[in-house]
Amino acid sequence: METVFSKIISREIPADIVFENDDVIAFRDINPQAPVHVLIVPKKWVKGIESADSSDKLAELLLAAAQIARDEGVDRRGYRLVINSGADGGQTVDHLHVHLLGGRKMHWPPG
Ligand code: 5GP
Repeated sequence: METVFSKIISREIPADIVFENDDVIAFRDINPQAPVHVLIVPKKWVKGIESADSSDKLAELLLAAAQIARDEGVDRRGYRLVINSGADGGQTVDHLHVHLLGGRKMHWPPG
């Protein structure tokens, strides 16, 4: 399944990549909602969290997110990880991704 994120993975379109290993790539969101807004994406396509299974690298996504938070210097004050799922969840790209948002105070409940 080709998505805008698979084109970033294959370098067909540019992105500001901040982390990469065999399973995971992470890059800055093109429309940032916080001073730090990074998307953490599995290189193997999975539509979303609803279709993920135990063969998908879900732990690696979260561990990469925590590492990036440390690298970006937002770990001490705190940050938020978000997975949007489906239409009501606000998912707009059908390629599983975790949002890392930091560098400002987050609100609760989210909009
Ligand atoms: P979702 O709404 O699916 O949870 O998140 C998709 C995110 O992808 C949005 O925050 C959107 O700004 C970001 N996005 C969409 N297209 C691109 C792109 O081409 N490059 C980057 N870096 N981010 C993108």
